[in-house]
Amino acid sequence: MSRPKQICLLGATGSIGQQTLDIIRLHPDKFEVFALTANTSVQVMLRDCLEFKPSFAVMRDAKAATQLHGLLAEHGAGNIQVLNGEQAICDVASAAEVDTVMAGIVGAGGLLSSLAAAKAGKTILLANKEALVMSGQLFMQAVADNNATLLPVDSEHNAVFQCWQQAMTSQRRNEISKIYITASGGPFLDWPAEKLVNITPEQAVSHPNWSMGQKISVDSATMVNKGLELIEAHYLFNLPSKNVEVLLHPQSLVHALVEYIDGSVITHMGPHDMRVAISHTLAWPQRIVSGAPRLNLLSEQATLQFRPIDEGQFPCLKLAKAARDEGACAQIILNAANEVAVAAFLQGQINFAGIAGVISETLSKQPRVTITGVDDVLAVNKQARIIAQESIKEPALYV
Ligand code: NDP
Ligand code: MG
Repeated sequence: MSRPKQICLLGATGSIGQQTLDIIRLHPDKFEVFALTANTSVQVMLRDCLEFKPSFAVMRDAKAATQLHGLLAEHGAGNIQVLNGEQAICDVASAAEVDTVMAGIVGAGGLLSSLAAAKAGKTILLANKEALVMSGQLFMQAVADNNATLLPVDSEHNAVFQCWQQAMTSQRRNEISKIYITASGGPFLDWPAEKLVNITPEQAVSHPNWSMGQKISVDSATMVNKGLELIEAHYLFNLPSKNVEVLLHPQSLVHALVEYIDGSVITHMGPHDMRVAISHTLAWPQRIVSGAPRLNLLSEQATLQFRPIDEGQFPCLKLAKAARDEGACAQIILNAANEVAVAAFLQGQINFAGIAGVISETLSKQPRVTITGVDDVLAVNKQARIIAQESIKEPALYV
């Protein structure tokens, strides 16, 4: 029997992180946790450190790390090394002992550690789509140069990968005519535009089909998530933008469709449960039990409807597509402005419609530069955050 895979779990306390631990818990013979990382969630880290006994626990926040260190010692687990800061997260993501890195940090905060795993030639299970949106070409180059293996966790991209086994490596891209990723439409599908303006954060984070972290839940409600996913697909699968489309499919049973040039369409179906995609990447190229429920195609909800998207209803999707078509710098600005706007929306500083407003303002105000390295990415990201924050201070515009 082969030795258990050594897992570094970035973003362990989040939605993706916790579901990854659910699967690891089912397979103690197959996986061992080498490191867990989080930002500030000390109590969840404490509980999971005591259960999974990693060699390292890393908190981005220094105070949280001190607290965790003390609590672990109190609980007789002082042998777990507690580190803090972004560099320490990068260090565990690239440690020699690690086979597989789950990149489950949300947002731009996951870029450097995801990239560190790529540069160290790891198997990267990529949930942190923002890393690809910010640095797609650089990221894919780092994967190729260092012989890393990149496996998509995002359900639609994982579905494409399952329908097109050579997706990540193939020279045979000319056999593919189109890929479609599906969108449920989020909680506000078919709401009239005037009703969308005053949606509350509570309404925005209650997705009808998926249970996810706050940021991606809001992203799904504005549909910027599908825009980020189009950019993600473009880089992951090395396909021209015109060959990647979104289909509205409210039931979220089909996650992607791959159309080949002979007219065959291969689709991936499954329950809307991230454990399916996570377990697929953890075990790949094998299959393991995920703990997800079975798909019941005889249930009343199992009808399959597909519709085009009304982009007028979702301005954030339109802005994301424009950034995709423009290129790397606009994609970084889009991502940064969206992160700032979503945080402001969740804190009640702007209304729901203001999210698109902040993104649009930032994209129109920020000058473009050529992106040649990670320093350029970080500089554009930083500047976009400043411009986005400034635009939020214009209360007349967004509240
Ligand atoms: P959550 O908000 O639930 O979790 C985020 C995790 O990242 C937490 O562990 C958090 O720690 C940690 N974190 C946040 N900021 C930082 C930072 N600056 N540095 C280090 N760690 C940080 O997010 P999700 O699990 O929902 O999403 C994670 C990623 O997966 C996102 O990119 C999302 O788009 C993608 N994804 C998620 C899906 C889902 O179903 N949730 C589906 C498809 C993709 P702490 O708890 O301490 O704050
Ligand atoms: Mg998705």
